[in-house]
Parts: sequence; C-alpha cells; structure tokens
Amino acid sequence: MYILTVNCGSSSLKLDVIDTQTQQSVTELKAERLPEERDITLNGKTLTYSGELLFPYILTFCLEAVKKDLADKTISGIGHRVVHGGDKYYQPVLIDEQVAKTIEDLIDLAPLHNPANLSGIKAAQQVFPNLPNIAVFDTAFHQTLPSRAKHYAIDKEISKKYNIKRYGFHGTSHQYVAQKAADFLQQDIKNLRILSCHLGNGASICAIEFGRSIEVSLGMTTMEGLVMGTRSGDVDPGIVTFLQQKENWTYEQVETFLNKKSGLAGMSGFGNDMRDILQQAENGNEDARLAIQVFTHRLTKYIGAYAAVMSGVDVLLFTAGIGENSPEIRNRVCRGLEFLGIMLDDDKNKSAKLSDELDVANISDENSRVKILAIRTDEQLAIALEAQKIIEEKNKVNCIPKIPIAISARHIHLTRETVDVLFGKDYELTEYKPLSQPGQYAANETVNIVGKKNKIENVRILGPLRPKDQVEISKTDEFFLGVDAPIRESGHLDGTPGITLIGPKGTVILKEGVIIALRHIHMHPSDAELFGVKDHDIVSVEVDDEDRPLTFKNVVIRVSDKFKLEMHIDTDEGNAAEIKSGEEGVLMSCKQSVSLLAKNV
Ligand code: ADP
Repeated sequence: MYILTVNCGSSSLKLDVIDTQTQQSVTELKAERLPEERDITLNGKTLTYSGELLFPYILTFCLEAVKKDLADKTISGIGHRVVHGGDKYYQPVLIDEQVAKTIEDLIDLAPLHNPANLSGIKAAQQVFPNLPNIAVFDTAFHQTLPSRAKHYAIDKEISKKYNIKRYGFHGTSHQYVAQKAADFLQQDIKNLRILSCHLGNGASICAIEFGRSIEVSLGMTTMEGLVMGTRSGDVDPGIVTFLQQKENWTYEQVETFLNKKSGLAGMSGFGNDMRDILQQAENGNEDARLAIQVFTHRLTKYIGAYAAVMSGVDVLLFTAGIGENSPEIRNRVCRGLEFLGIMLDDDKNKSAKLSDELDVANISDENSRVKILAIRTDEQLAIALEAQKIIEEKNKVNCIPKIPIAISARHIHLTRETVDVLFGKDYELTEYKPLSQPGQYAANETVNIVGKKNKIENVRILGPLRPKDQVEISKTDEFFLGVDAPIRESGHLDGTPGITLIGPKGTVILKEGVIIALRHIHMHPSDAELFGVKDHDIVSVEVDDEDRPLTFKNVVIRVSDKFKLEMHIDTDEGNAAEIKSGEEGVLMSCKQSVSLLAKNV
C-alpha cells in the first residue's frame, strides 16, 4: 500500500509517499522557511515555486508536484501529523468534519501547530478529493499518563476552565522507537521499563512502562522540560513575571523569548545546530560549553527522576538528530549514571553510525544492567503504518457483516442453591422462550428484587443456572432501587453490592452480584476472526441511522463457541439512543484491552 504522509509545520512542509510493504519512501518533498522560500526539494532535486507567496497556495503546489511524481502509483490514503489532539484522541482517527472541527477547537492549546496541520489537511483533501485522511496525534501516546503525572499543582477551577494539564508531544516517535527497542531486544514491550530520549530541535524524554507512556517532559505546550534548539525547557515561572515587569514585555514577547530565543541558540549565541555548538565548544568557546553542559545536565537529571518514577530502568534509548548522531552528547548524559546500572561502551558509542541498514545500535557495555540503544526514529513511517491500519480496518468494515443489536431488559441469573430457596428444593425452571444466544432461555419464573429504597416486581430469570447469582439492572433501576451498581462484565462480581430476592417459597439476601452490564458483543470465534478482534478487546460500534448516526464506545468483545453474533445494550441505552432490538451496528475501531478500559469506567 502507498500512503502519503503530510507533516505540515508553521514554516515547513514534509511530504513522503511510503510503500508500507518495503517501508521505504518512493517520493520525498521538503520545503522550509515557508512562505518566503521558493525553492522546494523533490527527491533531492530543486523545484522552484513561482506563484504568490501564500502558504495555502504553496501547499497545493507541493501536493500537486507529489501527485505528478507518483505517475501510475496509486496511493490508498493520507496520514497527517497533528500535534495536539487534546484529551479527545488516544489513537489515530479517520478525519471527518467533526474531527477537523475538534482539531480547530484545539488551536488555543497549540496556536503554532494545529492551524498549520489543518491547512495541510484542507490542501490534501482538495488535491486528492477521494482519499481517506487520517490524523495521527503527537499527544495520543501520552493519554495513558496517570493523573499524578498529568496535573499541574494549580487551582483546580482554572485548570478545568482552560484544560491546563500535561499532554506531552513527540508521542509518535516515542512509541515507534520504544517498540523498535523491544523488537531489537526480542522482548515483549510490556516487560520493559524504557526511557526514550528524543533529542532533535524539539526534545523530550518519556518514561514507558507496560508499553504505555507514564511520564513525559513536554507539558501542556511544547515548551517544558529539556533544553531544546531554541526553547528554554524548564524555567522558574517567576522568571516570566520578573521579565514582564522589568522589560515591560507583553505575553507575546515572553513567549517569543522562551520559544525562539532560548535553548541552545539563546545560550550559545550562534544558532541552534548542535553540530556547530559542539565544534565551537571544542574550539574553546565558553558559551557553547555551558550550553552543552546545561543541555546534558538537564537530561541526566530527568533520567534520574524518571528512573525513580518507574523504580528502575531496563532500556535507555537515544533518538532524533542529536540522540542518533552525537556520541559526545550520549556519553556526557550517561556519565555518572553507573549507580542506575547505566554503563556505556565508549567504542560502541563512538562507532555507532545509524543508517537505512542499521537503525538500532546497542551501545551498552556488556556489564551494563540497562541496555543503552541509539535508534533511528522515523515519524513519517510511523504515521504511514498507523494510517495503513485505519485504512485496512475501514476496508474490512465495508465487507464484513453488520452486528444485530438486542436490548437487554433487567434480568437475573441464579444458582442451584438460590433457586432451591426461592422456589423449593430441586425446582426446575421452565422455558418461556429461547434467547438468541444458543442454549439460553427466558424462564416463566420471575422474582421480586428489593433494594434500600424500592422494590421491582417480576424480574425475569434467565436460564440455564449459573455458578454465581447475578442481577443485571439499568442505571434507572439503580437509582430507583437505591443500590450503587458498578458497570461490569458479566461474571466479574467482586466488590459489587448485594440485594434481596423474594420468590414464592423463600427469600435470599445476596451479598454481591448486582451490576450494570458493560455493553458487549457476543461473537463466535469465526466472527472474531472475520472482524480481526479477540476476547476482551474494546471496540466502537456505529449505528448508521440516517438522521442521527450514533457511536457506542467502549463495547467489550466476548468470544465463545457457544455465542452468536449480537451486541447487547441495556434498556436505558436503547431508549436514550432511540434504538430498538433488531437494528444493526457497524464495528468501527478496535484498540484497547479491557484492563485499560477499567481505568476509564
Ligand atoms: P527536528 O526533526 O526536531 O527538527 P532533528 O531530529 O532533525 O530535529 O534534529 C536536529 C538536531 O540534530 C540539530 O540540533 C542538529 O544539529 C542535530 N544533529 C544532527 N546531526 C548531528 C550530529 N552528527 N552531531 C550532533 N548533532 C547533530
């Protein structure tokens, strides 16, 4: 599959057409210092733009140039790097009007990046009108940050009002290189504690545990943390107010100062290119030396802090321009970290030359407990591979069956012992009607259930008997009865509240067993294979009502050879969505495992 990736910054543009099978670029376009610069590089050759120097026009020109270069190759979709996905996106998404609107709404949080990303999306839609566009968010990988890492210690009303929290960036790169490290070490990423140092013009360090980002040095904006090319990284917030007062600066002036006039460029006084700074330091320039010292000291400090957060480190990896190419910087950063089990091999470090053929180099001493790796990042490839997944899912969705939806009214599953008490010893339930799931039936028998506040009469029993008593109610029932039922998968009853059951022959006080059933899809293993999902996956299901298309998120997959394809939602959900039994849904996306979801529920 050929995928076009679009990385559209505020003054630069990178377009790559990637063959996802060979993982190589077949067409590459680069434009910098836009909109002033007319020279554009296409496959290493210069192309000159002669039109009006307006950003959207230049974008269209570049996309048309790539289209022409493709000749008879057909691209299947377009992957866009989108810097800020806010709280909303934890994975790449197909761009529709709603997604584009959300990216626009997030401009406040990424005023330089999101407008440029949107221009890229609009231009691509115009030049390639019939192709799917996929947004891959820099923030998405960090959606798993725990609250303690995500929140700033500021007034809660203000943080809520403006969504002030740590979002983190470079997520596509951190995720890609972390997986590369695990593959290289032939380990499951879930068993590794990884510190990923992305050191380019922008720089950040990310702590990755169980394959998930749990700390990252970039925060709400792209300014916090490490020393960067032109950005300061961490400063005492008091400096901001001090400068506003002393220099009489507006907030724009402060922002320009911290974003564009600080970091390596600010400290060295001659630009942000680490190669030049290293050269000058070697020539004895004190400013360059100090810039390098502050840069590496800050990173060493963060490594220590993040090692503490994960209670240890298994892999320390360096990536992006500086991380991939500078043995000097890697050496300075690792010096003194032996106490953490971080021991660099000087020779391997110096001789590591990453290339198309060598994208990971092990530079750790053989006695180093921590594996130290230099890894080539490839954000364009990562974007293309993510886009490919979405496109394949979309194509699959178009040719696989729709999922019938059934509304599940309140009901009870009982054990042998409970039936004995409620209906008499060895009483056999009688079948009222079969249910859609093979072997299951609604019984003629009902019971009354009594909560703290009210009772509900004639609640249907579903057969056959089960090893645990389970009462499945809706949210409305929960309030009416006065019980505090959690949303759970069937059979997961630990810590659930109890209730009283009254039958014709006796009463049973259940200690636990009342749940609101997590919406779920029953699947036969053959369905699961067709949909490409497995037991306990979490998916979204879209119900394609023409007037009101609707998406059910967080639907859990349950696979058994006793099941028939059907999605179950409860009465409340059916009523709220105006859905009746018999309607159909379409499986939209599949990502998380149920343990991840448990946090969100
Ligand atoms: P971005 O993609 O964030 O613009 P890159 O990942 O291309 O940045 O990294 C750019 C940085 O990498 C620059 O500071 C550049 O000087 C540095 N860099 C590239 N090659 C080397 C090298 N051989 N030694 C030291 N720094 C290098």
